[in-house]
Amino acid sequence: MTANTYQPPHPSEDLFPLPSKPRLLVVDDQAANIQVLYQILSHDYQVLMATSGAQALALCASKQPDLVLLDLVMPEMDGYQVCQRLKADSITRDIPVIFITAQTDESAEEKGLDLGAVDFISKPINPRIVRARIKTHLMLKAQSDLLRSWAYLDGLTGVHNRRFFDERVNAEMGRAIRNQTALSLVMLDVDFFKRFNDHYGHQAGDDCLRRVAKTLKTSLMRSGDNIARYGGEEFVCLLPDTGFAGAMQLAETIRKDVFDLQIEHATSSVAPFVTVSLGIGCKPEKAHGSANSLINLADTQLYKAKEHGRHRIFGAELLPDS
Ligand code: GH3
Ligand code: MG
Ligand code: MG
Repeated sequence: MTANTYQPPHPSEDLFPLPSKPRLLVVDDQAANIQVLYQILSHDYQVLMATSGAQALALCASKQPDLVLLDLVMPEMDGYQVCQRLKADSITRDIPVIFITAQTDESAEEKGLDLGAVDFISKPINPRIVRARIKTHLMLKAQSDLLRSWAYLDGLTGVHNRRFFDERVNAEMGRAIRNQTALSLVMLDVDFFKRFNDHYGHQAGDDCLRRVAKTLKTSLMRSGDNIARYGGEEFVCLLPDTGFAGAMQLAETIRKDVFDLQIEHATSSVAPFVTVSLGIGCKPEKAHGSANSLINLADTQLYKAKEHGRHRIFGAELLPDS
């Protein structure tokens, strides 16, 4: 009998592969302590270092490490305060924090975990334990990142869902106002889709929506990230740094690309193929306005496109003081 030395990969590692070299941030006011951890970890990880709480916060925001190893006792800002600040900021909230400390009392550990740390390791450190715990927490982080991304996807078409759009449109509007940049929103709706379903069946309707979504992704190469299914047969495309002319051009590309799919639609009053109507709302560089005002504008323009015969585009800009 031959010995079988093959070890199948751990199933969860297989499903959730870690990025090739995850990035760790080691925070300690004593350079010698950082040095010890660096020696243990630098072979498997990219190691960033900070010797103060303020430096740690800045690095977390700019470099987005995958995990933070945080010393508890530091002058000025201690580890608890750093952890609290990381957890209060939406940019750094999801970075796992492990406290590394010489303090062994349970209340210190309890407080750290209460503040949102995922683990507590005591000094002097055992290299194998440190490596094992880091690996576990990186794996858990990768899993929760994946689940979170699924929660923002539309199950039928694979583009983003309404929840994603609602969050993104607010963030992009804030950014566009702060930076005085343009922001456009294209809203589109499949024409006579009820008739399509009635004639070809719901399955064919689903298939049609998938093909329209795929076409949107191809048409929107620059910001494919910002396509979402807004509702039944309605999609939205959010276009940062895009003014009215650019949005118009893109809407025309979409209108043509969907028509060119030549999906048969025998009961449409517009064409023998599936068509879409589009409405554009645009915030010019200098204008203000809420995300809702932009959505309402695009929606009104879409309604006009329907009223004027469908398979066409209407658009308008927010007024400078709206
Ligand atoms: P209009 O040109 O004015 O937009 O007419 P319409 O028929 O497209 O609009 P209406 O709002 O009357 O009907 C939309 C239809 O879209 C009704 C609904 O059955 C269908 N629909 C919505 N979501 C889905 C879906 O996920 N799958 C399928 N197959 N059909 C859907
Ligand atoms: Mg509709
Ligand atoms: Mg429709």
